[in-house]
Parts: sequence; structure tokens; C-alpha cells
Amino acid sequence: GGQTAPMQFEENNLSEVKRVIAVLSGKGGVGKSLVTGSLAVELARGGAKVGILDADITGPSIPRMFGMGDRRAHGLGKLLLPEISATGIKVMSSNLLLQNETDPVLWRGPIIAGAIKQFWSDTSWGPLDYLLVDMPPGTGDVALTVFQSLPVDGIVVVTSPQDLVSMIVAKAVNMADKMNVPILGIVENMSYVQCPDCGRAIEIFGESKLDQVAETYNLKVLDRLPIDPALAAACDAGTIEADLPAGTLPLTLAAARAVEA
Ligand code: ADP
Repeated sequence: GGQTAPMQFEENNLSEVKRVIAVLSGKGGVGKSLVTGSLAVELARGGAKVGILDADITGPSIPRMFGMGDRRAHGLGKLLLPEISATGIKVMSSNLLLQNETDPVLWRGPIIAGAIKQFWSDTSWGPLDYLLVDMPPGTGDVALTVFQSLPVDGIVVVTSPQDLVSMIVAKAVNMADKMNVPILGIVENMSYVQCPDCGRAIEIFGESKLDQVAETYNLKVLDRLPIDPALAAACDAGTIEADLPAGTLPLTLAAARAVEA
């Protein structure tokens, strides 16, 4: 038996999740998870029902950000139940399935791809306005598998000033074209530092080249986030929902809301 049940789950999810938005970066550590988490918080503050599928299987940082680092997901028959944050954001992550938060994930590519598929098809997401997907870093095989496994409606690209921005954006555009998914725009993270004394923005990595690259590909630069030690501390402490400054990522929020259900 068991041949028909998984198909039902897939149909179930398809009908109950209105929009799927993937957050992509060229490499790890640029703040893709922070942008995903922040966008989720902002959408939820606006009254939307939000879930986060943490597809960054080998570097999962979403659960900790939402204060659920020591929680474990439960199953219901063949279904996985997402953990629910303080403000009602549903999360599924490989970290919620490990015995300890610090256990390494030594899975190989196909297993990772299978896990991501299951996070979509076998997780009881219920009705959601937005499911945000924290993508595996990079524009390689694993990312491609994600696009083939779930119905992504739009992509947010996260870059940082240290990135080889033109190469990363070119790869993201290629991937999006191949998958026929629109890129909603680009967020530049760690864009500048705000001087605590005079408030001036200091571009410590030099002037951003992002505008030029965005123009070349006819993409929107949505928002620029400063390096903010308080925000990093909030992510570490699991208090992003309480501590994210109001009005973070306004244009990204608007772009997400403009995706048609
Ligand atoms: P990625 O998902 O791209 O690997 P993360 O979102 O996990 O990156 O961010 C990597 C680290 O950098 C985390 O410790 C995070 O808190 C920190 N970080 C990300 N963006 C910022 C920022 N704008 N200001 C301060 N720290 C940041």
C-alpha cells in the first residue's frame, strides 16, 4: 500500500498554500536566512499566514532565529507537523528533525533533495498565504532540485557587497529563466554601516555595483540592509519576531504582496 497517500498530500498542499517565494543567494553567509526570516516576520505582522520551508539543509539557521532551536518536530502518521513560532509562523527544517541542534548533517545530494521534497509534500502546512523557502546556498544542483520539486511563484535574490554580484545575478537569471519563475528583485544585505554617532551610512566595502548589474538584467533593487549587530544578536537569541525594526524590507514586502495568489 502507501502508493496513493503521498499524492494526496501533494494536492492538499497545492490547494492550501497560496504563494511560494524562494530566497536565493550565490553562496552561504550573505544573510539569505536573515532576509527570509525578516520577510516572514513582516508578512506575519501584516496579518498574513506564513510558513518557512528551510531548504538550507546543511546550514539551517531558521529555527534558532525563531527561538525553536531546541524544539523537535512531531509526526502525525506519514505527515510532518511544522513547529509554530510565537507569532504563528510555521517552520519546517532539518534541524527540527535532528536529535541535537548541533548534530552535523552529512547527507548526500540525493538525500538532501528528497528531504526538501518531503518538507513540501509531507508537511502539514495547512492554509498559508505565503510559504517562504530559504534556499540552499548557490545556484547549483540542489537549488535546481528545489525549483523542480515545488511550485515557486517568485524569487528574491540576496547579495552582499563582497559578492561577485554580476556573476551571481547572471546565474540566478539563468536559473529563473530555465524554471520560468520571475525574479521579484534583489536585496543587498550588509550594504553599509550606520555610524552610531552621526548616523551617516558608511559603505565599508566601497560603492555598491548592484544598481548597474540590476539595470543590465532589468531587475529591481528592492531593499538595502545595513550591518546591524543588534539584529544579529536577536537572530542568535531567537527573538527576531520581537526585535526586528518595523519597516524593515519595505519594497521586498510590497513585491511579495504583489505576487498573485
Ligand atoms: P545565509 O543564510 O546566507 O548563510 P545568514 O542569514 O545565516 O546567512 O547570516 C549569516 C550570519 O551573518 C548570521 O550570524 C547572521 O546573524 C549575520 N548577519 C546576516 N545579515 C546581517 C546583518 N545585516 N547585520 C548583522 N549581521 C548579519
